[in-house]
Amino acid sequence: MKTRAQMFWLKACKRCGGDLYEAPDFDAPYVRCLQCTRELNGLEEQYLRIYGRMPEPQQVPAPAVKTVAKTFTAKAAKVG
Ligand SMILES: [Zn+2]
Repeated sequence: MKTRAQMFWLKACKRCGGDLYEAPDFDAPYVRCLQCTRELNGLEEQYLRIYGRMPEPQQVPAPAVKTVAKTFTAKAAKVG
């Protein structure tokens, strides 16, 4: 009998601090939180499988603040 070990990542959920587990799916197993049922996106899942934990917020590239400021100024100019 062929049984695959199920993966668990304790207290790895970014939303609630709950335990993540790999839900068995024939085509593509997905990782989900046991407590809040939050499902990881592809990138998060990849990171988790490599490092065994979720990425820290500062490791996610920050949005370009300059571009946002520019757009805001342009909008304000139109209104004024
Ligand atoms: Zn959770």
